Amino acid sequence: MLAIALSSYGPDLVELALNAPRYRGGTGIYSHSMMGVACGALLAAVAYRLIARRPGALVIAFAWILHLVMDLVTGLKPLFSLAHPIGLDLYHLAWADALVECTLVVVACVLYARALSGTPASRRLVYAAGAALVALQVEGDRVLGKLDTLPWSPSLVSRPAPSHFVVAQPASTQRAH
Ligand SMILES: [Zn+2]
Repeated sequence: MLAIALSSYGPDLVELALNAPRYRGGTGIYSHSMMGVACGALLAAVAYRLIARRPGALVIAFAWILHLVMDLVTGLKPLFSLAHPIGLDLYHLAWADALVECTLVVVACVLYARALSGTPASRRLVYAAGAALVALQVEGDRVLGKLDTLPWSPSLVSRPAPSHFVVAQPASTQRAH
């Protein structure tokens, strides 16, 4: 389970590593492009196979790739080029981001409770955790929506690729995603 969780954040972990100890910019092409994600997923699957020595490498690769799919819903990513990031950019449309992410949490909790939780008590625990995640998501989107000064700019708008780890807000700089 830990390996799947880490893999689902794989591209962000790569971007974090590439920007340590200081932000460099332009690293999204290695962490969040089609080629970067394909290479990362392959390496993660091979590493899992060598280290864990049990089935599940495909799930690890799938989790890594799904990260990019979801990033394309919430942000703008340099799929093919830093100059032309692509995505729905819902981080700048707070209510839509909350709707999409809360729906995912609810669906995941229902599936998890049905598949893995044997007793009513454990199912209640899953639903309680889901409710807490939904509350955090809604509050996070509410606060970020108030602080956000940038317009919603979905899809094929040409501008510098954003980073997950830059919070500076001047219009001429990159921003957090
Ligand atoms: Zn990401």
